[in-house]
Amino acid sequence: MSKIIITAAVTGAWPKKEQNPHVPMTPQEIAEDVYKCYLAGASIAHLHMRDDEGNGTMDKGKFEETVNLIRQKCDIVINCTTSGDLNATDETRQAHLKSLKPEMASYDCGSMNWMHSGLFINHPKFLEELGYTMQECNVKPEIEIFDAGMVYNSLHYLKKGVLKGPLHYQFVLGAAGGTAATVENLVYLKSLIPEGSTWSAFGIGKGHVPIMLTAIAMGGHVRVGLEDNLYYRPGVLATNEQLVSRAANIIRESGNEVASSDDAREILGLK
Ligand code: ZN
Repeated sequence: MSKIIITAAVTGAWPKKEQNPHVPMTPQEIAEDVYKCYLAGASIAHLHMRDDEGNGTMDKGKFEETVNLIRQKCDIVINCTTSGDLNATDETRQAHLKSLKPEMASYDCGSMNWMHSGLFINHPKFLEELGYTMQECNVKPEIEIFDAGMVYNSLHYLKKGVLKGPLHYQFVLGAAGGTAATVENLVYLKSLIPEGSTWSAFGIGKGHVPIMLTAIAMGGHVRVGLEDNLYYRPGVLATNEQLVSRAANIIRESGNEVASSDDAREILGLK
């Protein structure tokens, strides 16, 4: 039996209420949804912020407000995005890490075309700077992998000291411009990471359930939420809480245990 971490990605940068009325947008809505997910079994909250028009923003004030609200309710591990707005400057992408010192933050280990919205740029200079910022602020990088090249980039940064082991990976499968959400692709990507790493995975859209089942079967951790998938099943819109509850049930039914926040801290070596 192993303890499996559920990360809840409750909002992301894109879906709006028109796509799914349950997507939380304001700091209050995000904090409430995170708390419901925590009660349903999530031990990490992956956070994005929205501006007043509902677009993705790296506004430090919104992160601070939201994280403060969450911390009043529960001890869930906070994992902030560093890629919540394609037009944000390198400085803005790290400002909230310096002020909030979250336990974790995303580290997108390469650049890519977001086929629907433009360039997703993670310049080598930015990735070096971000790696050192995270070390200084004691933030554990969650290395997001959209294709195999990004794993090799992470090995380069590990060797160079920009990243410190043991590394934690998040395999993002099914993004428009990244690797497709198939079992074979997850098995391949996982085969590339260093011994002793921890990892999690999720499939976007219709890849959501197959990748969740595969990750659990392979001994990995999982991420669920409306950032990645708007539907519970074809034609039925989901809530964040439902997606977390389903993941928790599958973990338990498959003979494993849902990790608590403190379990997640221990598994990931958070201080
Ligand atoms: Zn994200």
